Amino acid sequence: MFKQMYKEKFMRFPEGRAKALTLSYDDGVSADKRLLKLFSRYGLKGAFNLNNPLYGEGKHGTMSEAEALNAYKDCGQEIALHGDKHIFLSKVPLSEAASEILDNRNYLERTYNKIVRGMAYAYGDFNQKVKDMLAALGVIYARTTKSTHGFELPVDWLELNPTCHHTEEVFEELTEKFLSADPNAEFKKRGPLLYYVWGHSYEFDDNGNWNAIEDFAERVSNRNDIWYATGAEIYGYVKAYEGLVYSADGELVYNPSHTDLWLDVRGRTYKIGAGGTVKL
Ligand SMILES: [Zn+2]
Repeated sequence: MFKQMYKEKFMRFPEGRAKALTLSYDDGVSADKRLLKLFSRYGLKGAFNLNNPLYGEGKHGTMSEAEALNAYKDCGQEIALHGDKHIFLSKVPLSEAASEILDNRNYLERTYNKIVRGMAYAYGDFNQKVKDMLAALGVIYARTTKSTHGFELPVDWLELNPTCHHTEEVFEELTEKFLSADPNAEFKKRGPLLYYVWGHSYEFDDNGNWNAIEDFAERVSNRNDIWYATGAEIYGYVKAYEGLVYSADGELVYNPSHTDLWLDVRGRTYKIGAGGTVKL
């Protein structure tokens, strides 16, 4: 009887963790260098959303091509799209919007010798046609600037609303809420939590508050219950999880992917190894 009552399956992140944290910083400015060091010191992961080089024309300490290459090459973080020239994608013909993204993607991929498929919308600007165009260009997710103040996983990855911006008043409160939450203690709402923070590193210079992000990093780092991952890593994991194949009664599960996957059923965590089949 017990088994019949608890059919629900809930995704767990690598090693069975119920929480993931990711960060997303825009514009490729020189203050990113300090932020990159902080990320690596505390083991944080995120995406740096870069435009094509503006060669010092931009505001907020835009880096030269050589400086940027030195900062982001081998930085251990995700490099993501932010448009060639940081334009409003919904305010130009679709062909121009497509060039804005494709030129950016080609530039970043050739410069950093990596496949670049994550993105943050410049000015948070998009519409349905832009989203459809991004899907055709192979963009896997695109972050907006609209806060959810929640920890739900994205439903529409091309309209990925973050939890909050680091300057919002609720930032500290949300951090505390995320750290103290325990999905494993819930009954049927055992879904995993994603804390998605975004901003611009120059804001820490402008506001003279690097301590805000340093305090945050110290508080959230080195925890066994959190998966520290980039947006692209989280997307890849969720898509692999969605590809799990179940028997008709839901008791046998096959993982056809190349990624080890974890899930929670009846309060027990199962690991479904890459290519493996497990009886739940
Ligand atoms: Zn921007």
